[in-house]
Amino acid sequence: MASAPLVDFHCHLDLYPDLPLAIRRSEVQEVFTLAVTTTPRAWTHNESLASQTRYVRAALGLHPQLVAQYAHELTLFEALLPRTRYVGEIGLDAGPRYYRSLEQQKAVFERIIRLCAAARGKVISVHSVRASKAVLDTIEQHLPPPKGRVVLHWFTGSHAEARRAIDLGCYFSVNGEMLANPKRRALVSSLPLCRLLTETDGPFTQVSGRPSEPGDVTIAISQLAQLFECSYDSMRARIAQNLRDLLTEL
Ligand code: MN
Repeated sequence: MASAPLVDFHCHLDLYPDLPLAIRRSEVQEVFTLAVTTTPRAWTHNESLASQTRYVRAALGLHPQLVAQYAHELTLFEALLPRTRYVGEIGLDAGPRYYRSLEQQKAVFERIIRLCAAARGKVISVHSVRASKAVLDTIEQHLPPPKGRVVLHWFTGSHAEARRAIDLGCYFSVNGEMLANPKRRALVSSLPLCRLLTETDGPFTQVSGRPSEPGDVTIAISQLAQLFECSYDSMRARIAQNLRDLLTEL
């Protein structure tokens, strides 16, 4: 039996030196890759290449760290939204560097979540640095489970917040760097296996001194297999099944 496809549910393919090559690599290696974008303007080019593939999907994004500069592209975001099922990277970042734009980030995030709820059926990759509560408040208020699905990328909230996210129907995409951290690993081990996906967040994570690539999700799969005490192959199959479930339950 052929192995289940790998899943990289959060990777910035357009931040590698050669986007067509990065997309081809996912395609050849059969890695289902969610190519998140950071501005609505970047999406069109990603989409024109990804739409010709079997394994790569381009997500429409407006990164919270760029909201202060690109909030005016919200109009473009709104115009493009009907053309895609996938949204990301969006969210909130209350870290020290971006704290100043937090109120503006909240307004943009709420607007996007409301648009997604109205459109229905969107799958959304969400950033929540030091802002898990505010992110979950917005999801609870505006995006109940029948209206869309959120995948919390690199979630760093508390156990209670994770519990709340699970009740709100969220999935979690986890990467190797996250799982190398004992505190994060403990949190991930408390999550239901059926809500887990893998990601690299490449090129922002590294493997042996080079930027991670989608094929490197094998590392996260090995770590998860160890954490949940099952074989690599069964974890790999589980993650692929979780993605199928996510895409069919909406
Ligand atoms: Mn990212």
